Amino acid sequence: MLSPINGQGRTKNKAASFARWYKGNTHTHTLASDGNAPASYVVKWYYNQGYNFIALTDHNKIINPDTVKLPGKLRKDFILIRGEEVSGGKSIHTTGLNVTGYVDPGDKTLANAAILQNHVDSVLTHSGLPILNHPNFSKGIHASNISTTSKLHMLELFNGHPGVYNWGKEGHAPVEVKWDSLLTQGHRFFAVASDDAHHYDQFYPEKANPGRGWVMVKSTVLSPDSIVAAMVRGDFYASNGIILKTVEANQNNLTVEIDLVATKEQLKSPYLTGNITTEGKSGFLIEFIGSGGKVLKKTEGTSASYAVNGSEQYIRCRVSYCRKRAENKFEYLYAWTQPVFPGQK
Ligand SMILES: [Zn+2]
Ligand SMILES: [Zn+2]
Repeated sequence: MLSPINGQGRTKNKAASFARWYKGNTHTHTLASDGNAPASYVVKWYYNQGYNFIALTDHNKIINPDTVKLPGKLRKDFILIRGEEVSGGKSIHTTGLNVTGYVDPGDKTLANAAILQNHVDSVLTHSGLPILNHPNFSKGIHASNISTTSKLHMLELFNGHPGVYNWGKEGHAPVEVKWDSLLTQGHRFFAVASDDAHHYDQFYPEKANPGRGWVMVKSTVLSPDSIVAAMVRGDFYASNGIILKTVEANQNNLTVEIDLVATKEQLKSPYLTGNITTEGKSGFLIEFIGSGGKVLKKTEGTSASYAVNGSEQYIRCRVSYCRKRAENKFEYLYAWTQPVFPGQK
């Protein structure tokens, strides 16, 4: 059995055959901090877009989900997960997902690594899942400062806010390169995509709008505890546009299949913001990535399988769809599966 974080394998028991994918956003703001819509409006927006769960994560503020009226008239498969964006000094922000109560951001004057460690420890004290947000925001945090943090196993690979430089900036590598750096150093990190939405009235790329980044979590039950447990196991993937039908890992293979119907529908969304490049090749590409960020295998198509030889430090899969944009520009949209670790027990 390939072993993600905490040694548990991906769910393989009989109940797993009844598991389904749940779509969720782990990072959203409301009027309780610097979002521009009340919680009830934000919740309704996500509900109407077909999401199954969201966390309202205001800066150093907790909204009790019990106080927010859920739409829920037509669909029962929608929940709120209690959350907070623990917002410390040096623009280091950490989502506390499914926390039991308010998490204090701690001393904001400490060094980067100490601020982050405080966040992680405090979120864990409140029984939550810590997720390092937008590592390239503002002065950013380097992989070297993330790697010294203990008990942190999740980061935001994609964040929909226009000011976070997911694809890198001067002095900061793309977040995906930082992720591979951490994995190559032997740290077990899983990656989420989130919206970090603040603006719910006007929609254009320069606004922090919802609908740009999300996770798809495979679980038999939709509850805050079961969603977070599935994420800790690695039973999820991050997306900013691609929907997968199959993500399967066993001793011999890592297999990924795109849900073409759902992806085509998803790609019609006016909210998506992909990676804009000047060079590209239109269509789907599935890449299996290993130590050092090296591409181990790539397939142009909608399904692919990688034969594990057992010596790989880790293997993860990046699925991309490239489409032409105006002025000879290309836009890349992705799904990123979590790494598996064949070489580690
Ligand atoms: Zn933030
Ligand atoms: Zn935020």
